[in-house]
Amino acid sequence: MSSSASTGTKTVSGFDVQEARKIFPLLHVTAHNKPLIYFDNAATSQKPEVVIDALSTYYSEYNANIHRGVHFLAQTASQAYDEARIKVQKFIHAQSEREIIFTRGTTESINLVASTWGRKNISEGDEIILSVMEHHSNIVPWQMLCEEQKATLKIIPMNDNGELLLEEYKKLISSKTKLVAVVHVSNSLGTINPVKEIIRIAHEKNIPVLVDGAQAIAHDTVDVQDLDCDFYAFSGHKMFGPTGIGCLYGKLHLLESMPPYQGGGEMIQSVSFEKTTYNEVPFKFEAGTPNIADAIALGTAVDFLNSIDRKSASAYEHELMIYASEKLKLIDGVKLIGTAENKTSVVSFIIEGVNAMDAGMYLDTLGIAVRTGHHCTEPVMKRLHIPGTIRASFMFYNTKEEVDVMIEGLNKAIKLLKK
Ligand code: PMP
Repeated sequence: MSSSASTGTKTVSGFDVQEARKIFPLLHVTAHNKPLIYFDNAATSQKPEVVIDALSTYYSEYNANIHRGVHFLAQTASQAYDEARIKVQKFIHAQSEREIIFTRGTTESINLVASTWGRKNISEGDEIILSVMEHHSNIVPWQMLCEEQKATLKIIPMNDNGELLLEEYKKLISSKTKLVAVVHVSNSLGTINPVKEIIRIAHEKNIPVLVDGAQAIAHDTVDVQDLDCDFYAFSGHKMFGPTGIGCLYGKLHLLESMPPYQGGGEMIQSVSFEKTTYNEVPFKFEAGTPNIADAIALGTAVDFLNSIDRKSASAYEHELMIYASEKLKLIDGVKLIGTAENKTSVVSFIIEGVNAMDAGMYLDTLGIAVRTGHHCTEPVMKRLHIPGTIRASFMFYNTKEEVDVMIEGLNKAIKLLKK
């Protein structure tokens, strides 16, 4: 995509945004009779044609249940599902495809670890370290586990820019610490956390680390072996794949030591009323008929990501974030929330005297989709003493012209709504 210089539409970072836009059908619809401007990519990404086609092809050409049937369709579907796992394995640089478990998404991946590894390894008096900028899905499962096992959460604080305080993190670690669970990229602030360093520090004390990669996976290369994380959770729908599918990466020895998550077909080796033996990893964690179509289409999303120049896509997204931040700073009364040195393509902001939701609803009338509220990170909002923010989150298919339209819309919103 980035090599199609003939179109003459390349950005400073060398990314051909107009070429990229062509393959996302949804970017060409209207909202309230205005061309859609989609700035809610942190909530979910739009899908390229190839991913939509993969779903349709599966259902129209080889829909069958997998790993059971000997017939042609079952074999074809099984092969495609198994190949999708290998695609994901290679994409995140895992050592073995057995380390990839298909789940419904980040939330289920974290819940799986909490209710299997967690129940086995966390007991009374133990501590789990999280950060203040976790998404609710990396808080609540641990809170539920702590309640059940009488364990405690310890929270890494952040500074006013939205950067974690590593010195404070080090002080939280003790002999009671049994797990660190931390977000790679914050969905509400855009901060890219130094997860490799966080993991290194935890490993000095043999403490395993789970990384919530929901926001990182689409924007940069993830190498789980280089990070040396013990678990890495992410969702397909934030990386151009379908909803309802995601992954849990886990180091094989950990997965093998964990009890099953749910009981049912596929996860067993043999069943009798006296005793059931379990299947090997990863099948032990994939009870019942899996989400075959969406797993296959996630594999196609991986192919798609591999087909683009991710370096220039990522540089372009950064360029968009800086462009939007600079324009926002010029608006009287706007305050950027989340100004970390190391940031991804999210701009969160508040406007003095203007309710965030009102501003979001006004932008919607102009066809602009942003997100308002606490973005499922209530503790961050509490830390910053704000009820919520307006969030514009960019993908490489967004343009500076779209940012200009949002800025114009915000100026109008302020005139209309400012108290
Ligand atoms: N973690 C982060 C950082 C997120 O942004 C999200 C989704 N907004 C989640 C976890 C949960 O992802 P899902 O709803 O796809 O399970």
